[in-house]
Amino acid sequence: MKTMTKERPPSVERLLALAATDARFAGHGTASVTDALRVELSRIRDVWRETGERPDNTTILGNAAELCRARTRPSLSSVINATGVILHTGLGRAVLCDSALRQIRETATGHSNLEIDLDNGERGSRCDHVESRLCDLTGAEAALVVNNDAGAVLLALAATATNREVIVSRGELVEIGGGFRIPEVMAQSGARLVEVGTTNKTRLSDYERAIGPNTAALLTVHPSNFRVVGFTESTELADIVAIAHKHALPVLDDLGSGALVSLQNTAIADEPTVYDRLSAGVDAVMFSGDKLLGGPQAGILIGSKAIIDPMRCHPLARALRCDKLALAALEATLIVYQRGAAWDELPVLRALCRPEQELLASAEGLAEMIGRGGIAAEVRKTEARIGAGSAPGRVLPSFAVAVAHECLGPNEAANLLRHAAPPVIARVEDDKLILDVRTLLPGETERVAGIVLEAFIPAKMTRRTRN
Ligand SMILES: *Cc1c(COP(=O)(O)O)cnc(C)c1O
Repeated sequence: MKTMTKERPPSVERLLALAATDARFAGHGTASVTDALRVELSRIRDVWRETGERPDNTTILGNAAELCRARTRPSLSSVINATGVILHTGLGRAVLCDSALRQIRETATGHSNLEIDLDNGERGSRCDHVESRLCDLTGAEAALVVNNDAGAVLLALAATATNREVIVSRGELVEIGGGFRIPEVMAQSGARLVEVGTTNKTRLSDYERAIGPNTAALLTVHPSNFRVVGFTESTELADIVAIAHKHALPVLDDLGSGALVSLQNTAIADEPTVYDRLSAGVDAVMFSGDKLLGGPQAGILIGSKAIIDPMRCHPLARALRCDKLALAALEATLIVYQRGAAWDELPVLRALCRPEQELLASAEGLAEMIGRGGIAAEVRKTEARIGAGSAPGRVLPSFAVAVAHECLGPNEAANLLRHAAPPVIARVEDDKLILDVRTLLPGETERVAGIVLEAFIPAKMTRRTRN
């Protein structure tokens, strides 16, 4: 008892004085260091009481520094996408192009002309920076950008059809994921849903019969992540437009994944572009900025002035407005399209059109690097996907490396890779851990090999020493 009272843990003040000259605490304020030291001291007191073990100051400071570091490490950080899903919503969808990153930095490091017209010094609109570019690229008369496509649909319905009816085919009453369900968005907008046709068949006559004095618009929705096969029938968009216009009603088209360039030479050749939809005569098209367009999260509305202008003035437009960093990235991405360099510079389009030969070579290289480290790895032919609800059921031929951990199952091995730095997100298929190379960015193949070896080999060694 005597020695216990004499030999006490160091005081917080004493440790704080030591921490003041310790580089590991640099950048952490006194309050944060004090708190970490208190937490650590309280922990060692318990250990001391239970085991009699008395850690020295170096250990206490080391643990407190680690605690400071762990507490302030960003939780949102970069990961390597080896899933083969190009637009993975869980992994942040589109990777931005270099010029978008430069433009974010350019406009965010200082003030910007976000909402000021430099010609006359008066208040401008933040959408001015992208509107004419969107019109130029799609042939639309007017454009508006909000936070995301869900917001774009909500705004379009609210501005066009509150307290009135909107006609939708039952085959298009889809849930896109993350709670975006067309009937629910419709309810929130104040528009009344009028369902026509059946899940698998909707005819022109179904639309025409539903049109009444209270109809405000017809809505078409890209089924995105969902596909009805077999005994199906849907109507041509141009015919729906003709019926609507005959009754002086607008057609709103929720395209979801808005491609700005023709995808004719890709595995998703029949995916319509924004231009195709507009050419069919619809009055407004809504689509995402971070899907096939390959830009930041945004909801883009394009169409006739008559339909877009009321949306601009709607109170929801302010509530749903696009952030300046997203606008900076979107403008830079649109400029890439205007320069005709989209296939070369946008990571999404590059991933989409990577030739099979290149993918095979990349997979072979990865398998070899992993194999050389003593881990079983074999090249496999796989199927990659677009993701984010684009082109459902459509696959892109790809190559992957199947790796086997000596003692862990594929799910545990996948977990190990998710906890690496940086985390590698793989896929489990046929009870194998699969690293699809289609979604690896330039330079990531070597990094993945290094991470797999580092993550798998220590586990192997510990097991050996234990045995
Ligand atoms: C993805 C998608 C949405 C939602 O888009 P966000 O930009 O994620 O809000 C809405 N409609 C369709 C048809 C989609 O494919």
